[in-house]
Amino acid sequence: MRAIFIAVGSELLDLDRVDTNSIYVARRLREKGILTDMKVAVGDHMDNLSWIVKKACQRAQLVVLSGGLGPTEDDITREAVATALKRELVFREEIVVELKERFRCRGMAMPEINARQAFVIEGAELLPNRVGTAPGQFCDAGGCKVLLLPGPPNELLPMFEAAFEKLIAPAANYHIYSRAFKLTGISESEADSRCADVYRRYRNPVTTVLASPGMIEFHFLGRSKNSDEEARRLTDELAEKVRERLKDFIFAEADVTLPEVVVAMLIERKLTLAVAESCTGGGLGNLVTSVPGSSEVFLGGVIAYANSVKAGVLGVREETLKRHGAVSEATAAEMAAGTRRLTGAAIGLAVTGIAGPEGGNPKKPVGLVHMHLSSADSEQGLRQIFSGSREMIKLRSAHYALNMVREYLNQLPAKC
Ligand code: ATP
Repeated sequence: MRAIFIAVGSELLDLDRVDTNSIYVARRLREKGILTDMKVAVGDHMDNLSWIVKKACQRAQLVVLSGGLGPTEDDITREAVATALKRELVFREEIVVELKERFRCRGMAMPEINARQAFVIEGAELLPNRVGTAPGQFCDAGGCKVLLLPGPPNELLPMFEAAFEKLIAPAANYHIYSRAFKLTGISESEADSRCADVYRRYRNPVTTVLASPGMIEFHFLGRSKNSDEEARRLTDELAEKVRERLKDFIFAEADVTLPEVVVAMLIERKLTLAVAESCTGGGLGNLVTSVPGSSEVFLGGVIAYANSVKAGVLGVREETLKRHGAVSEATAAEMAAGTRRLTGAAIGLAVTGIAGPEGGNPKKPVGLVHMHLSSADSEQGLRQIFSGSREMIKLRSAHYALNMVREYLNQLPAKC
């Protein structure tokens, strides 16, 4: 079963209103193996809306609409869906009676205009609204089920849940199994080009790639009409093929962050970490200390933004700064060694770079970042040129630097 979500309301076409209902609905549908092929926002325009509903019903087996069920002139969803399905709107007196009673309980008389909410699409099942006044509707239109829900999220959620359990989930009849990989130390395009030829061959499982600064996620969702076991087998088959191509960059399968993984590994190996940060301005230390329990392994760090601090506090040699510059492999190495010396940490991790938007030149462009890991048995440098805004470059640098720690620790045997 494939779905299309239609968010109705001219206000959603403005910049300051965001359609959050579709996110909720698509996520819940996905949990039952129903994939949302399209989400559309449509203004309060009768012809546009009935046109899109008609098209959606031709393409999907489930069409979910939200909004436009209120009592005012611009609430046109009922009429637009009726037109699209070539059905009549039937006036149901009992709805008016119930609405009048609800208003009476609140000490008010029902405004006449609310009687518009008593129009029901011929053959539709009514979905009670316990929160607001607009009842929802469900139509089984041959090959397509159509669900009309109110716009306010606090009304939509309970109504959707009730309809989902009773009318949609039983018809979906899918067994699903999902897996995800989290990667760092590789760009989205590089990661994709390494495995796109594999996952594009599969329509089931579906692969979704999500990128955020410093991290990429690959999600796989397998579906089976027969059994959980089959859904799992399908998902595992593809996930393992992708893992083989990306294994050097995968830091987690579960829902954990890179800092959590690194802190856990440090604790397991009983090793301490200290940082020396220039362009990340404390962001690296912030990532590590956001993990509960990090005090066990994180000793501290120096934000060495100015050269005077790099030299005066971390002991970076004036000659190094003069000859190679503040953003260089040599400076990063001396910063990492300096923070180890200062704190006595087992691992010193340094970052120095040009976060922009100003300050670059042809030899050292904006986005150039040098990272360095120093320990008793290893000196490792990493040079990257990151793209993106200042904030993204800072975040990417911090994640790439932390990933150096992960890679280093991975090669060490865990202490008991
Ligand atoms: P009402 O009886 O409240 O008029 P309705 O079904 O007609 O219900 P709308 O008038 O379309 O709903 O929307 C009411 C409010 O609900 C909007 O102003 C907006 O704040 C919120 N809303 C509407 N659609 C969405 C959506 N897709 N995502 C999140 N919020 C929404």
